[in-house]
Amino acid sequence: MSRIMHRRLGDKPPVAISAQGMLVRDSLGNTYIDACGGAAVSTLGHGHPDILTAIHRQIDRNAYAHSAFFTTDVAEELAERLVAGAPEGLSEVYLVSGGSEAMETALKLARQYFVESGASERTVFIARRQSYHGNTLGALAVGDSAWSRHQFAPLLMDVPRVAPCYEYRDRAEGQSREDYTLALLQELEAAILAAGPGKVIGFCAEPVVGATGGAIAPTAGYFRGVRTLCDKYGILLIADEVMCGMGRTGTMHALEQDGISPDIAVIGNGLGAGYQPIGAVLARGALVERLRSGSGVFQNGHAYTGHPVAAAAALAVQKVIERDDLLAAVRQRGEALRRMLRDAFGSHEYVGDIRGRGLFMALELVRDRVSQAPFDPALKVHALIKKQAMARGLMVYPGGGTIDGLHGDHVLIAPPFIATDADLSEIVSRLADAINAALPGAKLKPQPGW
Ligand code: PLP
Repeated sequence: MSRIMHRRLGDKPPVAISAQGMLVRDSLGNTYIDACGGAAVSTLGHGHPDILTAIHRQIDRNAYAHSAFFTTDVAEELAERLVAGAPEGLSEVYLVSGGSEAMETALKLARQYFVESGASERTVFIARRQSYHGNTLGALAVGDSAWSRHQFAPLLMDVPRVAPCYEYRDRAEGQSREDYTLALLQELEAAILAAGPGKVIGFCAEPVVGATGGAIAPTAGYFRGVRTLCDKYGILLIADEVMCGMGRTGTMHALEQDGISPDIAVIGNGLGAGYQPIGAVLARGALVERLRSGSGVFQNGHAYTGHPVAAAAALAVQKVIERDDLLAAVRQRGEALRRMLRDAFGSHEYVGDIRGRGLFMALELVRDRVSQAPFDPALKVHALIKKQAMARGLMVYPGGGTIDGLHGDHVLIAPPFIATDADLSEIVSRLADAINAALPGAKLKPQPGW
């Protein structure tokens, strides 16, 4: 009997009693390799001594200070670091307690910027289909994950949507990458024009799509084109890097690899690496300057804003990433993981796509590789794989509704940056066993196209 409303109300999940490095142990003595860091959260694995020391030290010094009364040295130092590592132009930081709260903050900051600019008629956010931006009502409104939003849809603001950049499914046979990318940008421009360019506040997108699609990276030039359109119509580009940011793709911010800066970057998950709940918004200086020289107030604030212990954990995470050169490690091990996945699944008859960036990789499962037909959603292939993986001591992050909210299955793999090649090899081997057990009849058969 549990008093907690667990995710599946009828199921009490295993009780985690300890975690160290790559491993989590439950109360029955089972151990699990954490190959997904929860939801791409635990970038440094578990029990990292430097982060624990920093947290302990901060608790002893000062466990709490309300941001309406004080700032703290540790929050200030974290903000300095985040700005130093941010894409060009992002110079202001707002610290919150998680990804959804950060997304809400970004939406409000963007709106207030236009209100204080004398453009209060701007009320519209444009976003992409098959995206996840969080579970609070504003974040849920801009997101488009069918499973999380359908009951709440009547409560949510209207958000015009465009297609994600999902080459595996949406680039037509014979269509060049350039033409595909151009078509997506034309669709975005049409959406801006349909909403009325003077009505639009911003365009929200995950640079590499996480939970809803499974590590879907954009085509070359897509985000450059988005940036150009945002500049053309004076709308803000809001990059949701909650899952793909903080080093996960091999650069501190995923968008660095696309050669542009957003106006607002939203970060979370890997920011605290699971050691403390923390999220943040990084904003272009000019946005905040408008508020500073206007009302002088950003109309926001929470009881845990700028929490010093959370800031201490995030600061220590940043220091370890730099000291141990972990961004380079992510790039190297990401390539190793990609190779291993290709070796294991490149000819698997039920794996249609192997994709991702850095240590943010995914498999898309299909019933038929040639037609790319997905499995019947009623089979819940993603859930079967999760169950089989857990039974083999492996945590991965499978999802369903990959294609349109209903059809399609993927498995997201997001190991800690400290994973060794041996760890990655064990992850891939257990995953192969889990997939083959979940899909009886699956057999390795050479397929065209790899
Ligand atoms: N945005 C993205 C891209 C996410 O992946 C998530 C969660 O993983 C969120 C927002 C919401 O973050 P949180 O679960 O911390 O509220």
